[in-house]
Amino acid sequence: MQRRHFIKNSLLATGAVAITSCTEEKKAGDPRNFKGRVAIIGAGAAGLYAGFLLQQAGAEYVIYEASDRVGGRIRPLKGFSDFEIELGAEEIHGKNSIWYGWVKSTTAALIDTKTTDFFQVGNVFKNEAQWSNDADFQAALRLSDQARNYTSTDINLQQLMDNNRLAQRVQHIVNAQVANEYGTSANRLSVKGVSEEDLIWSAGDENFTVAGRSFLSVLEEKCKDVLPKVRINTPISQIDYRSERIVLTDAQSQRYQADKLIITAPLAILQAGDIQFLPPLPDSKINAFKKIGMDAGLKIFLSFNKRFWAADTGSLYGPGLVPEFWVASRGRSTQAHVLTAFVNGTRAETLIGLGSKAVQTVVQELDNMYGSGVASGSLTNAYIMDWRKEPYIKGAYSYPLVGATGARSELASAVMRKMYFAGEATHFGGHSGTVHGAMESAQRAVSELFRDVG
Ligand SMILES: Cc1cc2nc3c(=O)[nH]c(=O)nc-3n(C[C@H](O)[C@H](O)[C@H](O)COP(=O)(O)OP(=O)(O)OC[C@H]3O[C@@H](n4cnc5c(N)ncnc54)[C@H](O)[C@@H]3O)c2cc1C
Repeated sequence: MQRRHFIKNSLLATGAVAITSCTEEKKAGDPRNFKGRVAIIGAGAAGLYAGFLLQQAGAEYVIYEASDRVGGRIRPLKGFSDFEIELGAEEIHGKNSIWYGWVKSTTAALIDTKTTDFFQVGNVFKNEAQWSNDADFQAALRLSDQARNYTSTDINLQQLMDNNRLAQRVQHIVNAQVANEYGTSANRLSVKGVSEEDLIWSAGDENFTVAGRSFLSVLEEKCKDVLPKVRINTPISQIDYRSERIVLTDAQSQRYQADKLIITAPLAILQAGDIQFLPPLPDSKINAFKKIGMDAGLKIFLSFNKRFWAADTGSLYGPGLVPEFWVASRGRSTQAHVLTAFVNGTRAETLIGLGSKAVQTVVQELDNMYGSGVASGSLTNAYIMDWRKEPYIKGAYSYPLVGATGARSELASAVMRKMYFAGEATHFGGHSGTVHGAMESAQRAVSELFRDVG
């Protein structure tokens, strides 16, 4: 996710769960009051961080992970280039988070963020400064800001553009900078949802990419004591919480028991009903599932035998199916020339529908910017990461549909003081769709769990 933010006041604490020293008197919420076993579903950022906090607190826990790896939507690709490609999360959004602190404490190097963005409007391709006298272009930038500060009746972003009579020729800029960034398309994204989340964003407004380390290697280093507690290849298909102890059943009909459960499976997995709950989840939670979307999301990596873009290039915005390209190799390699196409929502669905023609279509869009044959003539390799195809993820990340107000806190609410919900979609403090948001949601869920023990 690419967020451009103003600094906001912090609503969510970002420190770890407080652990009382052995000599102090035990109080309500003290982890030492809990003697049971916690099961965690999912070993992405939320599940691993929940494990990290439980480990710190000395609690017994196991993490059940459906796939054959940890990390979830944090996943590197080795061998495509001379650096590791980030197939999922790639940017750190803001300095005010545990995640930023973790990455900074490793050998990862922050990549210089001074770049120039380029925009194609009609057939003309130039940088932001060169577009500055274009009234439609300025109106598009203003509308992107307006969407982030919107307080009227809820509508979708496309309606906001139409109501403001934003010229068709620049609508793709707003779609790219707001809707695609939120994981979807303008005709699906709630404008009120965007502004509600942006207004309480508290992580800071700088974005960082890193070189020398993959996000997964950082997560694995920090959670090294947690990794032995992860059971991979264990997709939980049923959760029976009718009795005091919770009974989990996996796809091979193996059963596991727990006293408390933290569920971090992605929203799209819960929406699809891939996990059966006995009894069914409360209607209020099922209704909340319907108010938050999680769309198809693609990252397409294109490797070239030469750099045809300016050395300081940040992002490229065009009117085609790819809302935004950026330079994946910048700061990470001196030899390789790799661009990332980042596509969510309806455009991702269209590209997926093109099958083997998808890469050709995307490279053609670069040719439209740089000149006929410039990109297509220097392409050496391509790789498509389609997050909807991942059986245990099924999409990019969550976003607010029209009418979503309050839905994330409902998604997050615990059931019967024994089932706790974490994962990026449950973050109701503005940080959904991010790694640090996933970690903060785990922190909230672990705090709730200890609070309920008394
Ligand atoms: C293309 C893309 C780009 C992104 N860019 C950024 C970015 O630049 N910066 C940023 O901060 N964030 C970004 N994000 C978002 C970020 O990756 C996520 O918000 C975060 O990683 C989600 O963590 P999570 O633990 O909530 O979920 P996940 O990482 O999805 O983990 C959930 C885990 O649950 C497992 N699971 C599912 N079903 C079951 C089951 N039945 N039983 C057991 N296990 C199950 C899954 O296999 C998965 O490992 C991006 C995401 C995508 C897809």
